[in-house]
Amino acid sequence: MASSDLPGVPLFINGEFVQSRTTQWRDVINPATQRKLARVPLATPAEVDAAVAAAKAAFVTWRKTPIGTRARIFLKYQQLIRENMKSLAATLTAEQGKTLADAEGDVFRGLEVVEHAAAIGNLQLGELAANVAGGVDTYTRLQPLGVCAGITPFNFPAMIPLWMFPMAIACGNTFVLKPSEQDPMVTMELVKLAHEAGIPPGVLNVVHGAAEVVDAICDHLDIKAVSFVGSTRVGTHVYERASLAGKRVQCMMGAKNHAIVLPDAHKEQTLNALVGASFGAAGQRCMAVSVAVLVGEARQWVPDLVAKARGLKIGNGTDNLDLGPVISCAARERIEALIERGQGEGATLELDGRRPPMAGELASGNFVGPTVFSGVKPGMSIYEQEIFGPVLCLAEAATLDDAIAMINANPNGNGTAIFTQSGAAARKFEEEIDVGQVGINVPIPVPVPMFSFTGSRASKLGDLGPYGKQVVLFYTQTKTITARWFEDDVSTGVNTTISLR
Ligand code: NAD
Repeated sequence: MASSDLPGVPLFINGEFVQSRTTQWRDVINPATQRKLARVPLATPAEVDAAVAAAKAAFVTWRKTPIGTRARIFLKYQQLIRENMKSLAATLTAEQGKTLADAEGDVFRGLEVVEHAAAIGNLQLGELAANVAGGVDTYTRLQPLGVCAGITPFNFPAMIPLWMFPMAIACGNTFVLKPSEQDPMVTMELVKLAHEAGIPPGVLNVVHGAAEVVDAICDHLDIKAVSFVGSTRVGTHVYERASLAGKRVQCMMGAKNHAIVLPDAHKEQTLNALVGASFGAAGQRCMAVSVAVLVGEARQWVPDLVAKARGLKIGNGTDNLDLGPVISCAARERIEALIERGQGEGATLELDGRRPPMAGELASGNFVGPTVFSGVKPGMSIYEQEIFGPVLCLAEAATLDDAIAMINANPNGNGTAIFTQSGAAARKFEEEIDVGQVGINVPIPVPVPMFSFTGSRASKLGDLGPYGKQVVLFYTQTKTITARWFEDDVSTGVNTTISLR
């Protein structure tokens, strides 16, 4: 089908779904089949301005909308997401490639944040200290900032937009979202449901695009805060550019997540966890396990691990096997090139997933099967770079101390895990590891929303995480009020000191 005949993904401005007037579009493609699904606009500067202007105008009333009104919209919204779970997952699988079961997981982990947003009445609370001086009270208000913006990656097109706009809006802000241009369709279905749930016109807006639209968001004087999730390269650019323009910015970025396997670990459970966390979603998770550090006798487990990886089934996400395709031809080629470099740099290719045989229209899909390297060492490209594909690197360490030192020497700090039956070893790991999210016999320790996502070091710029308690602080300004009310017949006289009297 000619691109111009494809349905255009709409913008959402001031409560209306509108077609962009741009001349620049890109196709949204099913990564399993290369079928074209839609085309997405790269919005014009005027359209970005219109979205921000709508958000700015809506803020005037939304910021004063009662907490209960805001909360009830999210109560309704969570119900609509639940009712539409199957169709949301189907759209997600068609444009992103992950299995239907995993697509439901993607929506569900976002839904949990929506549920949390509905509890905003218990989250956006100030503090009060009475009588800080005679008749003087000090208290705080957590006030919304104004127009906030979110920029999201392709790998969780439901969960990550839901990390952002529900909490921002629940706190009283208005929002401009820029979804990934690679898979914007499920995000738009979620936006439609948010509209149905009662989010008023202008409170949520969506513009599509790539680098130019992102730069326009970073520079826009009427945007007060930017939340970004994506690669380290782009996130660093966004952090610097938006900070320079005076905005509050948080960037959740790339990773290289290590799991330590101690010889006392529950072998079967550990191997299952490693294989699921390395190859699920075709390795395209920022919290995927990409390096397993086998300690001592656990080094003998390589053949069993490889056998499990070999047993995984690859196919169209709609067939609900173990893993689907990677997002694009370019991503597949990049992963294949890194596998070749790994071989060239001396790692042992235990399992080669390149070009798995696929039948029918899947033959042109972006498939890479589970791939395992052993003998991986720091300095190799497959160790230093985030592969973002179904490739597991196996490294070795003689002791737990050596394994911890290896992880702490890696610049990334998104997630890590340890597999052991020893409480003492787990506790030592938890205390000494310099990574912001730690799993103990849990391979992908993404916190639930009553906590916050707390990646660290090179995986994160900005101090506060994207959901949970921390994001309430990110999306609000603390205003501290010190108040005295005069009694009619009392005078305290002139006070020329700094002390409160
Ligand atoms: P990406 O950085 O290519 O894209 C993210 C966003 O930035 C998209 O909306 C895209 O349109 C925009 N963008 C792309 N190039 C740009 C440029 N030159 N200038 C300005 N904006 C630009 O990331 P991706 O490939 O979509 O997602 C995968 C990456 O995201 C991986 O590195 C992964 O680890 C990371 N990620 C991190 C987390 C986390 O929480 N730490 C979560 C999910 C994904």
